[in-house]
Amino acid sequence: MSALRIDLGRFRENVRAVRARVAPADLMVVVKDDAYAHGVEAIADAAAAEGVRWLGAFDIATGVRAKAVTGDRARVFSWLTVDEGEIAEALEAGVELGVGDAGYLERVGRVAAARGETAVVHLKIDTGLHRNGVRVEAWPAFAARAAALEAENAVRVAGIWSHIAEASDEEDDAARALFDEAVAAARAAGLRPEVRHLAASAAAWHRAEFRCDLVRVGAFCYGIRSAEGPEIPGTVPSATLVSEVTAVHGDTVEVGIGSLDGLFSTLAGRMSVGTPAGARRLRAVRETTSTIDGWDGAAVGDEVVLFGAGDRGESTSTTIAEAIGTVGEEPLLRVSPLIPRVYV
Ligand SMILES: *Cc1c(COP(=O)(O)O)cnc(C)c1O
Repeated sequence: MSALRIDLGRFRENVRAVRARVAPADLMVVVKDDAYAHGVEAIADAAAAEGVRWLGAFDIATGVRAKAVTGDRARVFSWLTVDEGEIAEALEAGVELGVGDAGYLERVGRVAAARGETAVVHLKIDTGLHRNGVRVEAWPAFAARAAALEAENAVRVAGIWSHIAEASDEEDDAARALFDEAVAAARAAGLRPEVRHLAASAAAWHRAEFRCDLVRVGAFCYGIRSAEGPEIPGTVPSATLVSEVTAVHGDTVEVGIGSLDGLFSTLAGRMSVGTPAGARRLRAVRETTSTIDGWDGAAVGDEVVLFGAGDRGESTSTTIAEAIGTVGEEPLLRVSPLIPRVYV
């Protein structure tokens, strides 16, 4: 049996390390992608138990799941632009909405007004990534419109936010200058946001001036350092992908996990697997099984570790990512939802 073993104690230690690092800024733990494959319910609950007061979900369904677990213990922020039905679901659950375009602001205001409620929103300025967010030239009118909707009690602007590339310091600095101007313009329009948030893991950890009031951190809370980036002291991967030996042949063994379970077939020859005898080379990946170098006394049922914290010589999600040129969390996010999550 293969499993993704989730160490909630390690997750909580990571959260403590990140919180200590970013204080006095507050920490929003990002739980998108089913909490980076850890399972949103267990992670939302563990984060709230650790005293985390903000959770960030990309889609509304994930936000609603997080809110159902945490209730009043945490505020939940979802930033995907959605239709009226999903806006209503978010309002019903008390999920706060990221709003990055004028049409969406109207839609949110309309749904809230029709329900006799006030939508709590965080307005997004486009600081250069051009993914979503209001362009600088359109921002003053957008902020004024939000202030008008606030006066009607259709919305309450709780935050101003943006997302940065974290690719070069120069670009990030330019983004931060635009962000500061947008916050000033929002205040001039009469808005009184409680929180400004800009940074994800890397900027939050490495660049104090990006922390503002709140940072949105996913990867580092799960112990996933950036590909080609330094170790992050006090954090350790909290997810470990394990499987077991299904057959022993001469100098190789077969294990019960393959590409259909989420192991990249291009990793053959390029990563180590943790075994009872230490690190062994991954030789071949098939659909539901893989071959690794054997060891003396290997037996059917022995546990092997595909990636984890490195305790048994295995790769980490990030070292695997580095071997194939992707982001640190990608190997973890690839793990099939059919692989059971086991909490320890
Ligand atoms: C994914 C995401 C984050 C967290 O990014 P990490 O690098 O995993 O910390 C923060 N903000 C937004 C908008 C995101 O999409």
